[in-house]
Amino acid sequence: GNIWRPANSKERLARHLKETGGKVLTRFPPEPNGYLHIGHAKAMFVDFGLAHDRDGGCYLRYDDTNPEAEKQEYIDHIQEIVGWLGWKPWKITYSSDYFQELYDLAVELIKRGHAYVDHQTADEIKDFRERRAESPWRNRPTEESLRLFDEMRRGLWEEGTATLRMKQDVKNDNFNMFDLIAYRIKYTPHPHAGDKWCIYPSYDYTHCIVDSLENITHSLCTLEFETRRASYYWLLEALGLYLPHVWEYARLSIANTVLSKRKLNKLVTDHWVDGWDDPRLMTLAGLRRRGASPEAINSFCRALGITRSDNIIQMELLEHHIRDDMNRRSARTMVVLKPVRVVITNLAEGHVEQLEALVRPDIKEDQGHGTYKVPFSRVIYIEDTDVRLKDSKDYYGLAPGKTVMLRYAYPITCTEIVTGPDNETIVEVRATYDPEKSTKPKGVIHWVSEPAPGVSPLKVEVRLIDRLFKSENPNELDDWLADLNPNSKTVISDALAVPHLADARIGDKFQFERLGYFCVDTDSKPGRTIFNRTVTLRDSYPK
Ligand code: ATP
Ligand code: MG
Ligand code: MG
Repeated sequence: GNIWRPANSKERLARHLKETGGKVLTRFPPEPNGYLHIGHAKAMFVDFGLAHDRDGGCYLRYDDTNPEAEKQEYIDHIQEIVGWLGWKPWKITYSSDYFQELYDLAVELIKRGHAYVDHQTADEIKDFRERRAESPWRNRPTEESLRLFDEMRRGLWEEGTATLRMKQDVKNDNFNMFDLIAYRIKYTPHPHAGDKWCIYPSYDYTHCIVDSLENITHSLCTLEFETRRASYYWLLEALGLYLPHVWEYARLSIANTVLSKRKLNKLVTDHWVDGWDDPRLMTLAGLRRRGASPEAINSFCRALGITRSDNIIQMELLEHHIRDDMNRRSARTMVVLKPVRVVITNLAEGHVEQLEALVRPDIKEDQGHGTYKVPFSRVIYIEDTDVRLKDSKDYYGLAPGKTVMLRYAYPITCTEIVTGPDNETIVEVRATYDPEKSTKPKGVIHWVSEPAPGVSPLKVEVRLIDRLFKSENPNELDDWLADLNPNSKTVISDALAVPHLADARIGDKFQFERLGYFCVDTDSKPGRTIFNRTVTLRDSYPK
């Protein structure tokens, strides 16, 4: 449409082509002030993806101009998680690598009459902006601004007493042209640049210049930066620098969660969640711990496409891609979350039979995935939802007199249900099994068994994860923390599993038959395996 987009001069273009050889160059510019989230996966898919498709390169650039919020921990994590998603940075750079050049260009900007040292307070700046009034310092002599800017750099001014402002256009329709701040004083050491500087460049000043110095061809960012494009080009024009092509796309929002790093930081710092990698968070570390693979996340990003329409994406779409991927890669196994004891009365005490179960029963033509051993003995456990006191037509579980098939084993018939004092709570089920397998009951249920008489099956912990927030868009709530879902995590500490799961290692993924897809959590210890439910089995994403 009518979005202003200037062109490079012939000379600038020639210089750019000489430096790049015409290579497509993009950048992914996270600020190291938190862990990356699923929105960043979309940004990476766009930035690294475009460079990859066009045989170009994508910089991983730490946009590190706010020393207070930034930490080495975040810098390290970002590099690791970018690699985990499968992206290979062409070069890794830091905006702070350019502090000297940025400073020199600021001096040049003042000399050209396009910047001035200002002494207005933050409140005054805000008030003047609203009235579209010029700062009283705006027209001070260039020499004075040069001297003061040098004094700012040398630490002769207190924080908040001086800024460098770009001399843009306070009468412009675009408020992002109202003399944006280029430099501010901060006596804070920098995680990457050390204590060399006490003045730091702003995002608006830094981003376009570093894009230009790195010869970025396509500077892709999210739509909220659209109004800053005018300032982006204004500054590069004012300095006569090469102009990258800027293009904006929709920011990803996901229902029932928050993605802003400020909010994520709050959740982590105040212990509303268990760290940046809490599986309930849509951070990439959280998704990884929950069990999502890089392929699933990138497949989701591909499905999103690169559009300019902002809407909230339902969690079901992400889960659909994760489920698809887990279905392809996971071994099947059996775990009982809420065990009910069943005694097989016609099986001799002490009898243990080793049955074989299929690792991939879903792949009919290929049994090369093998089998695992399942003991079958007199005491077995089934899911509490698979037994009822009263039968009904649409129910395929056990009930008095009814027969169900134990997966990979035999049909069993319920002969008696022992209840507690309330006559409702099921304490134990008695059943007989049919060694001849002469019936084929409709209902097939999962189960586990005592590996030896009186020996409990393997105990595992299972964590079920639900939406972190109750509302679709917690972002628009004033008290967004009050909207946290109190049931976002359910811990089942005494689920029972088939024996081979004792060998499961952190990160291993399984389908627990009939229950969903699960991944071994990082909290697991030898002898204590913990699973997160990554996604349920049922795909509720509308096709
Ligand atoms: P936040 O509010 O979470 O701090 P940000 O945009 O300041 O967001 P950065 O680390 O600066 O976060 O972002 C790095 C890149 O990732 C930017 O290009 C930004 O536009 C992009 N990005 C951040 N969040 C999203 C999102 N939700 N969807 C798509 N891209 C995003
Ligand atoms: Mg940013
Ligand atoms: Mg930010």
